Parts: sequence; structure tokens; C-alpha cells
Amino acid sequence: SGRWARAMAILREVEEKCGTPISKLRQVADAMTVEMHAGLASEGGSKLKMLISYVDNLPTGDEKGLFYALDLGGTNFRVLRVQLGGKDKSVVNQEFDEVSIPPHLMTGTSEELFDFIATALAKFVATEGEGFHPAPGRQRELGFTFSFPVRQLSISSGTLIKWTKGFNIEDAVGQDVVGELTKSMEKIGLDMRVAALVNDTIGTLAGGRYHNQDVAAAVILGTGTNAAYVERAHAIPKWHGLLPKSGEMVINMEWGNFRSSHLPLTEYDQALDVESLNPGEQIFEKIISGMYLGEIVRRVLSRMAEEADFFGDTVPPKLQIPFILRTPDMSAMHHDTSPDLRVVGGKLKDILEISNTSLKMRKVIVELCDIVATRGARLSAAGIFGILKKLGRDTVRDGEKQKSVIALDGGLYEHYTKFSACMESTLKELLGGEIAESIVIEHSNDGSGIGAALLAASHSQYV
Ligand code: ADP
Ligand code: MG
Repeated sequence: SGRWARAMAILREVEEKCGTPISKLRQVADAMTVEMHAGLASEGGSKLKMLISYVDNLPTGDEKGLFYALDLGGTNFRVLRVQLGGKDKSVVNQEFDEVSIPPHLMTGTSEELFDFIATALAKFVATEGEGFHPAPGRQRELGFTFSFPVRQLSISSGTLIKWTKGFNIEDAVGQDVVGELTKSMEKIGLDMRVAALVNDTIGTLAGGRYHNQDVAAAVILGTGTNAAYVERAHAIPKWHGLLPKSGEMVINMEWGNFRSSHLPLTEYDQALDVESLNPGEQIFEKIISGMYLGEIVRRVLSRMAEEADFFGDTVPPKLQIPFILRTPDMSAMHHDTSPDLRVVGGKLKDILEISNTSLKMRKVIVELCDIVATRGARLSAAGIFGILKKLGRDTVRDGEKQKSVIALDGGLYEHYTKFSACMESTLKELLGGEIAESIVIEHSNDGSGIGAALLAASHSQYV
């Protein structure tokens, strides 16, 4: 019928606009490399902030003692304690707790958010028991993973540049987040020193390096997306401080804010961006990460309902609600292997209150999920390829096969199997035969929490 043809026309157009042929991915990777250079050359020189982390030494394995970590960066925050055993003993003991952030705190005041965090941390500290040994007479120390763009002032302080991922707490922008947390901890009498303030990418890099010395970069694919890597200090023209002894500096790219004319963007992406909390910003993130993939799918389905009566004569009201279709639900539909696609049918019914969908319609929805996820996965591979190019690790040099490990973490990477598989195969495709064998992607399971604790240990006031 005419309706079906119109719906298919919308689908085919999305498919075409989301296309990521390998030639386009190479252009994206090259643009990423160019922007990396520009961001390292001068402050404000690029959409990529290429933030200096003040981490010039990654964990060695010698770190010892009891350390805490706190991870704030999405819908949950995690508190963690680890007992580090030092040489050859690694992590002797660890415990964590996860607390979800009440949504009203994500757009309230800075004081309310940090009071809430400090209180949860204090509760967790109060449960410290057997297997954890604070050194007598010493203050407890914390690594604070804060996954928003921060201009670091030192390893243990930094001001918030802007919020992302659905947070919007105006009075916190420009403030030292460690100062804010410390104030809240003092208010309730929690005696703890923030020894390191890090981004989750830096934490993941540190956690990854602790287990594998070949880790060269870390990528987060979760609610948002970002990457960090180890740069040679003399290749950072905007760094005017002393060159670190190690000759290295870890850079937080803030790649979520990358954009390029080569990115395949659709009218749906444009509308999503305009209506977002941060229009014009985080464009790469908005086509790749977990916060947005389901919402892109919803927007296309909504168009198909409006212009092609895809779900019948009326537009299902629930389909008009922004962010109602979450990426985990999209993922569940995409992975549906039942012959009648009953997971798809169930999700449509439960979330969008659309019943009586035909198999043919369900197939269209799976195809749409595939189009949107494939674009995100292939673009993340292009981003990683860009980093490898910047590091000169994208080809075999002097016949030497140096192994490079990329530490990956985040709920999207971990749970959206089709996404991760596509990302990994695309990276191999970009690298080509010989070198592909020496580039390894490793899942760094909650590396960022452990990583922050490790960095707190190496920046302890007692070492
Ligand atoms: P954050 O990025 O907030 O620190 P995570 O790394 O745990 O937290 O990632 C959570 C995000 O991962 C969710 O917002 C969601 O988008 C995505 N995610 C979680 N589970 C799934 C799933 N089963 N399928 C697809 N995406 C998922
Ligand atoms: Mg996280």
C-alpha cells in the first residue's frame, strides 16, 4: 500500500544518510587526528579540548594501602574501597556500592548534589570492616572520578567547564569540584582527602595499565562517550610547565564534543541536538552514546507514524515522549532472535503502548535499530583509529610489532553486543591485515574506579 511504501522511503533515507563506508570512516579518523593536533597546540584551538590531566605516571603495581574512590558521571554513582597489596600482590580486597542519583539533583544546586554524594560516601565509609586496614593516624584518601569536562589546576583540583549527559547545575560551572566535595564532606564531619581528581577515561587508562603495561588508550562507551591516551609531553605545545620526568602526559580528549563535516548527520540528529540541554555541543556523543541511540530510533519511528501512518491512523501518544525509548530497550529489540520477534512486540507494547504489530513491522524496527547502532559503532572505531594514527601505531614500523591495547569500558560497550562486535570488526577493517593482530581491545571492568584509587595511592600525601 501507499503507507507501507512511504514508511519504507523514510527508512531507506535514514539508512542512506547514516551510511559509513570505509572511505568516510578514514576521513573521520583523519579529521580526528587533525583536531587532536589543534587541541594540543593551543587552548581553545579545537572542538577537542585535549585536557591535560596532570597524570604523568600510570600505576606500576607498587601502590599499597587502603584507598577510596568515588565515580560520578551518569545516572548512578559508585563508591569503592580497595586494599592494595603492593608489589606482586595487587588488589587484596575490594568492595563497592552503587547509588542512583535522584533526577531532581541533576538539575538542582551544586550544594545539594555534593551534600548527597558526601552523605552516601560517609555511609559507605562507616561500613568499613575486616580486610581493610587504614594506616593508624593517617587520613583516609580518595580518588574522585568526575566524568565531565574539567580544566585541571593540579592532580587534585579542577574547575568544571560544562555539564553534559543530562546534568545541568548552573552554579557548579566554573567551580573547583574538589572544593565543593570537600566542603560537603567537612559539613558532615567526614575526614577524607581528595588525592586525585580524574576523568573516567583516565581512571580506565590507569586501571587498564595496572593489569597490562601495553595499554595506550582508554575509551568509554556508556551514557556518554570519551577517550584518553598517553601523549609524549613534548608533543603538547600548549603545555608550558616543566616536562615531566616520565616524558609522558595523559590527555583527556573529551572526544564527545568532536564534530566534522564528514560525520553522517540526519535531520533527526539535528532536531535531537536543537532540543537538547546542550545544543550545538557533544555532536559525536549524540550519535554514538547510550543516552541518545534509543532516542534517535524513537524520532524516526515517530516520523514514520506521523507521515506514513506506520502504526495506524493515529500517532501513538507515548511515541511523542522524548527519551521514552531507552538504549537498553533498543538493544533488547535489536538482539531479538525469536522467529516472531516477540521481544520487539513486547517492548512496543510495554513502552509505547502499541499492540498488534505485524512481523513485517517488527522487522522494520530491528532494521532501524541496526542502522542507528551500526553508525555509532563504526564511528567509534574511526575515532579509535584516529588515536592510533596520532600515536603512529596504525602501521607496522621497522618490521617491529609493538602491541597496543585499548581499554574499553561503559554500559553500552559491555551490554550492547552487536554494537561492540561491529565496533571491533570495523577497527580491524580500518587497520588491515598485519597490524590488526597487534591492536587489542580489552574490556576494563570498572577500571575507572580502581584506577582512581590507584592514582590516589600514587598521589598520596604520605608517599
Ligand atoms: P555511565 O556512562 O553513566 O557512567 P555506564 O558505563 O554504566 O554508566 O553506562 C550506562 C549506559 O549504558 C546507560 O545509560 C545505557 O545507555 C547503556 N546501557 C546499559 N545497559 C545497556 C544495554 N543492555 N544495552 C545497551 N545499552 C546499555
Ligand atoms: Mg561511568
